[in-house]
Amino acid sequence: MSNMFCFQCEQTIGGTGCQSGAGACGKKADTANLQDDLTSSLINLAKVVKASTPTNITNQIILEGLFTTITNVNFDNQAIEKQIAKTEQEKVKFISDDSTCTLYDVSTLWQEHEDIRSLKSLVLFGIRGIAAYAYHAMVLGYQDEKVNNFFYKALHSISEDLTADELLADVMETGEVNLSCMAMLDKANTETYGNPEPTTVSLTIEKGPFIVVTGHDLYDLEQLLEQTKDKGINIYTHSEMLPAHAYPKLKAYSHLKGNFGTAWQNQQKEFDNIPAPILFTTNCIMPVKGSYFDRVFTTEVVAYPEMIHIDEQDHKKDFTLLINKALELGGYQEDTVMTGINGGKTVTTGFAKNTVLSVADKVIDAVKAGAIKHFFLVGGCDGAKAGRNYYTDFVSQTPKDSIILTLACGKYRFNDLDLGTIGGLPRIMDMGQCNDAYSAIQVAVALAKAFECRVNDLPLTLVLSWYEQKAVCILLTLLSLGIKNIYLGPSLPAFVSPNILKVLVEKFNLTPISTPEQDLKKILG
Ligand code: SF4
Repeated sequence: MSNMFCFQCEQTIGGTGCQSGAGACGKKADTANLQDDLTSSLINLAKVVKASTPTNITNQIILEGLFTTITNVNFDNQAIEKQIAKTEQEKVKFISDDSTCTLYDVSTLWQEHEDIRSLKSLVLFGIRGIAAYAYHAMVLGYQDEKVNNFFYKALHSISEDLTADELLADVMETGEVNLSCMAMLDKANTETYGNPEPTTVSLTIEKGPFIVVTGHDLYDLEQLLEQTKDKGINIYTHSEMLPAHAYPKLKAYSHLKGNFGTAWQNQQKEFDNIPAPILFTTNCIMPVKGSYFDRVFTTEVVAYPEMIHIDEQDHKKDFTLLINKALELGGYQEDTVMTGINGGKTVTTGFAKNTVLSVADKVIDAVKAGAIKHFFLVGGCDGAKAGRNYYTDFVSQTPKDSIILTLACGKYRFNDLDLGTIGGLPRIMDMGQCNDAYSAIQVAVALAKAFECRVNDLPLTLVLSWYEQKAVCILLTLLSLGIKNIYLGPSLPAFVSPNILKVLVEKFNLTPISTPEQDLKKILG
């Protein structure tokens, strides 16, 4: 008999589900079951809140709870138990004497008819992703009532006996709400830190003490930059934190030096005996190896047993322990030249919507003159599957008269390649983190307007890679906008049943990736 069930990410065992003692991500069965208990608790909180008005604390508990269950975020049973207790305490506040509420257990969901399970999973995993984005906006002081309200509606609908058509509408609404959420986060990031600017980022680690910051949370990075200035410690981004270099207010810190390493799945190799501590602000944390066990720090909802977790007090974090660890480890003795996976010594970032749209005239002229014939958005999560070199090969084989927009950590497969320029524009433009899919959508909409056509009629193809639940909500956003002909890989989600896949293929021509050669031939004709 299986003792856990989880199929929310791309690396799920056998392409069907992690069902024995531990998942492919290293999550043990007891942790997976506690995450299910937390999800049940959140659903039941949403059910009792239904007729009342949730407070900011209720909203925060919902965001934290959903975020906690994202792949590679939290492996710490104690932290999850604490989150369940908090959720249960909050629930009590909404229960009146005459309340009648049948409690829901999320294990029911795993037993449902495969199409219903598929649709409800799309909603559940989608709102987990949205919660992460809403959380990053919340710490910067931004909230959206529509987004907050949707969490309750969506959680509640998971416990309801709904038809496939009703659930399909919820799936599309999940995508729509994520667009609003990404817009809110874009506003939060740009109003707080300025509009990203094209920036070249070094991959060389300078001698002396340093700290590596990974994850997505810019506010954590800002606090650490502030607390380390004038301390002789350099700060390096890792994985999804790379786009931080492009924000004017963050790049103003001269000790924000460069980027360390590549995407998340290489961390066990890249952090091996690193002479510096690592701060995880969000996913993806992998099981921590002995060679760097003493130098991992977590914050926010990230937690791993026995690692030091830095909590917040009065909206501030004290990074003293992390700073002391950096000074104790001392960093490299000499400047250490590192490279990307293709041997490049620098990468660029900062081509978010304002930058790209500021040269829109140039882009439009280049398209009209035939200098640019096609745009590709090649982005999404990276992962460990061998077949993911598809994305490196795909980008390498794109014709010279095409532009590659990219975002999220999948870009590390090719972001150190020098593919040259077209009319002064680099052929590879990094738009930012996964949530900066919002930027890509704005650029696509602006181009469609300029060319007086629909987004689907543009010479633009989306070639996406997915791994965890933020990719799920972004995919739903694109579908909710009616964007067709998306290529998705490296494999299709296990939680999408054959019938639901058929609907997505018929309605949106969602296409699994094949080989770069075949796909490019199909796209370019
Ligand atoms: Fe398996 Fe992914 Fe779930 Fe981990 S998160 S248990 S790898 S499906």
